[in-house]
Amino acid sequence: MAKLYYKFGAMGSSKTASALMCRFNYIQKGQSVLLLKPALDTRSKKGEVTSRIGLSAPCTTFEKDDNLLSIYESQNPKQDVVIVDECQFCTKKQIDQLRDLAEDVPVLCYGLKTNFKTELFEGSKRLLEVADSICEIKSICECGKKAILNGRFSKNHLVLNGEEVKIGGDESYKSLCYSCYKKEKEKSMLLEKVDKYLTLFKNIESAGVWNTDTSADSIVLQKPEVLYVDDVKSFISDFKDFPPKSYEATLQSMKKYKPENKDDCLALISLAIKAEKEKPGLVKSLVENKIILKWLKQIKAEL
Ligand SMILES: [Zn+2]
Repeated sequence: MAKLYYKFGAMGSSKTASALMCRFNYIQKGQSVLLLKPALDTRSKKGEVTSRIGLSAPCTTFEKDDNLLSIYESQNPKQDVVIVDECQFCTKKQIDQLRDLAEDVPVLCYGLKTNFKTELFEGSKRLLEVADSICEIKSICECGKKAILNGRFSKNHLVLNGEEVKIGGDESYKSLCYSCYKKEKEKSMLLEKVDKYLTLFKNIESAGVWNTDTSADSIVLQKPEVLYVDDVKSFISDFKDFPPKSYEATLQSMKKYKPENKDDCLALISLAIKAEKEKPGLVKSLVENKIILKWLKQIKAEL
């Protein structure tokens, strides 16, 4: 009985090779196969499905608005089996067409489940909803755990935003387990912040102004405090929550302290922010003397 099959896996799980081996098996049994591929996949030649391990086969390429039922019907003679590679790029409508086609012939769809933002592709979502059979092609993360997510990397850093499908560019993809993905994500988020303040603090002259509320006869009514400019205010909010170590002794000589690594730098920044209450103006002097800039540079060097 014909069925709609969805075989998904992360990047590098040899989905395409599996699709090509499946095609080979059908052909060996004397069956004909219609191999389909979305035009969106530009990694291999048009009209050819190519796997990383070197297998390849001719295919029919389709566009987003093509009707897959019509493509099937236009074959003469009609093929016995339909195999779709990179099926995540199909539209919901095209998966519904494959669903109808699977009433008559087996349709096997191979592709990714989620995009680099860890969200379902349109085609994958519909397949999960309507396929008769769903099966995972497993792959391994660098750490040895099962890979479930696909990370997009640019210059060794996980990309957090952008278009779902990016053609060209110097990005690469890696399949990751959740723990490794989370670690990479945190690193990238920190880098984004560090880059932001490295630019903002480079030429900053004043981090804020002293506010000493005085009465008419110049008696100070409250403890003086610094009214920080917006850029420093957002810096304080972005960096206040890194776990501070016990640096109470260091507080006195903070400007001279040489942090050992990026976590040390983050702990120092966080400590300075928390100490602002007791030592008003501490952040002001660290920003204006470019000490924070030095720590941010040290953090960036390790990311
Ligand atoms: Zn991992």
